[in-house]
Amino acid sequence: MSNKDTSISFHVSGMHCASCASNIQRKLKKTKGVAEANVNYANEQATVTFNSDQTSEEDLTKAVASLGYTAHLHTDEAGDVAETERALELGSLKTKVIVSGLLSLILISSMIPGLPEILRSPWLLWLLTTPVQFWAGRRFYLGAWSGLKNLTTNMDTLVVLGTSVAYFYSVAVVIFSQQLMSAGLTTHVYFEASAAIITFVLLGKYLEIRAKAQTSSAIKELLNLQAKTAWIKQGNDWVEVPIDLVQPGDLLLVKPGQKIPVDGEVVVGETAVDESMITGESLPIAKHVGDLVVGATLNQSGSIQMKAVKVGSQTMLANIIRLVKQAQGSKPAIQALVDKISSYFVPVVIGLAVLTFVMWMWWGPEPKFLPALISMINVLIIACPCALGLATPTSLMVGIGKGAKLGILIKDAQSLETAHLVKAVVFDKTGTLTEGKPVVQTSQLFSDDKQLISNLLKAVEELSYHPLAGALVNWADEHSGSKKKLQVINFQDVSGSGVKALVNQQKVFIGNQKFLQDHKVALPQAIVKTIEQLKAKGQTVVFMSLDGQVTALFGIADGIRKSSPAVTRSLQKMGITSIMLTGDNKQTAKAIASQVGISQVLAEVLPADKEKTIRQLRGQYPVIAMVGDGINDAPALATADISIAMGGGTDAAMESAGITLLRSDISLVPTALKLSQATMRNIRQNLFWAFSYNIILIPVAMGALYPVFGILLNPVLAGAAMAFSSVSVVLNALRLKTINIK
Ligand code: ADP
Ligand code: MG
Repeated sequence: MSNKDTSISFHVSGMHCASCASNIQRKLKKTKGVAEANVNYANEQATVTFNSDQTSEEDLTKAVASLGYTAHLHTDEAGDVAETERALELGSLKTKVIVSGLLSLILISSMIPGLPEILRSPWLLWLLTTPVQFWAGRRFYLGAWSGLKNLTTNMDTLVVLGTSVAYFYSVAVVIFSQQLMSAGLTTHVYFEASAAIITFVLLGKYLEIRAKAQTSSAIKELLNLQAKTAWIKQGNDWVEVPIDLVQPGDLLLVKPGQKIPVDGEVVVGETAVDESMITGESLPIAKHVGDLVVGATLNQSGSIQMKAVKVGSQTMLANIIRLVKQAQGSKPAIQALVDKISSYFVPVVIGLAVLTFVMWMWWGPEPKFLPALISMINVLIIACPCALGLATPTSLMVGIGKGAKLGILIKDAQSLETAHLVKAVVFDKTGTLTEGKPVVQTSQLFSDDKQLISNLLKAVEELSYHPLAGALVNWADEHSGSKKKLQVINFQDVSGSGVKALVNQQKVFIGNQKFLQDHKVALPQAIVKTIEQLKAKGQTVVFMSLDGQVTALFGIADGIRKSSPAVTRSLQKMGITSIMLTGDNKQTAKAIASQVGISQVLAEVLPADKEKTIRQLRGQYPVIAMVGDGINDAPALATADISIAMGGGTDAAMESAGITLLRSDISLVPTALKLSQATMRNIRQNLFWAFSYNIILIPVAMGALYPVFGILLNPVLAGAAMAFSSVSVVLNALRLKTINIK
């Protein structure tokens, strides 16, 4: 990807089957300057990566338009456009289904014997069928025509071929009935078949679009969370303004029971906020001055004033929506295979239909022509690959949407697909299995100047971002009387080891045993026992030295998360191994591991080596998930097959990890893996039904039942079966919504 490459996602309207999507995708890929294009039928989104020097957004719009579809490049409107269009399409489909349904009913009942001759007149039947064929069925002709112009075929081609054969054959029969009769040929017309097929396919479409709208309900629900207005300070008054007018830096008032309008910081007051809509966490979170609040969450008890920090597309909610949409539009590997199969499907089916006709004309019983014609129509109608095209994307949309609701943000379809294969989960220790809130439990000083030690400790560790540094600074604050500020020079944070600096011309080292030994600081023999005891308790031992002399030792404890043991247990039940990876020393790591029920511990691994360690584990476990905090574990996370970030919703984690847990709750790890398994199972069911439907029914349509049972499939039933297959796939995907994966 060169730096000129830009990537955009836009809504495409006018698609009515999966092959439309693959045709548009092919056209976009062929457009000059386009590196990658992906068109998803299920959510009607196209994602295109292109070189902005060689092609423009306008070129892309034109490419889409040349096929007879419309690209809506301006994302703000896209949601509304999709919504209104869907409503319009559903409305017009409904009318067409009702009208052509009624006409088909009349046509079919005209076959009842004993009706007055006039009702069975072929001319009347012709008259009744024509609006169904060309008014209700117009969309199929348009679709087939735009395919033909680009020398491709699609589902519409099949419907048009099948029904037109029935219709025009019948027309010919009506016009030439005299001649046919005198030649001793039958004069049966098939108007009702054509009308019924069109009605069923339209009905299937109608149900499919309605159900498809529900697969994207997660996005709609997220959008609805947004507050519509905010109370803003203007002069001395609070005024209610539309949310779009809020700017970063504005002072906002949020009363109890109101939604937090945008992301920001509490400046006055305190309250409890229900964040469940974003994180899934059911307990309200206490918020004080200085705490961050997230837009769309619900303020419960107190009245607060907040400063707007992130507004519009920058808010956490907007980011979540964007990522969920992107993920829903992305394609997993399994879909690439299905796409490939579908692209051969239509031409193959047309070939089979012709073959069927020829076979019947060759070997069929007399009168050969009618069963040959009927069987050909049946093949064209029944073999439509629409169910195949819907199988994967609909399940994915429901699965990813369900994840977002549970507080699991899945960044792409591939992560969701891969996650079901995970055999080992590697957990970072600090902040993942543990609370990440270390506290100094034990301290031992080897110098009388307690004052100096705490001042040095504070001055140096204040410069480090390591969680342990925070614990040491807190300890120093509690134990120092005079808060003298010391000047620190040459500060260095040695990742995975400790920190060093020069203060008052004295060399200060603070870090683990190895770090001190590497710098030739010897540990007094007398403290070895203490160290062992602390480690056995699961405390991390940190040493401080001053000019080569150990001056203090701290035992720091970081309590395990309450849910950690249950998480490793439920992973074990799923047949997944839990592994701990940490930079901390072996004994401490082992002590913590035994508390959470992990037997495989990889300790004393430097941050830079964590990545290599993951790669080595690959030999043992083919698919590995890594759970970390997403910030300092980034390289290791990137190496794992699935990265799960305990983001608590930080932007960095959301962008980098395949899966982000929106609240710091590792019990979401097994939930995410189970969601992946459930989604993949659902996709497989869909594919199985879609394929077996075709494999079983194509031979039936060709007339396989005829030689044995003398049964020839009625084309009306072929139409019904085709409609049913698409609808059943979408309904099965929706079932995923209600599956309990806890
Ligand atoms: P983890 O893998 O558990 O997150 P790290 O790799 O970040 O651990 O750190 C490993 C060890 O290095 C810590 O357990 C600690 O002993 C030492 N260390 C790292 N940074 C600091 C620091 N700022 N102050 C004191 N000790 C540190
Ligand atoms: Mg860490």
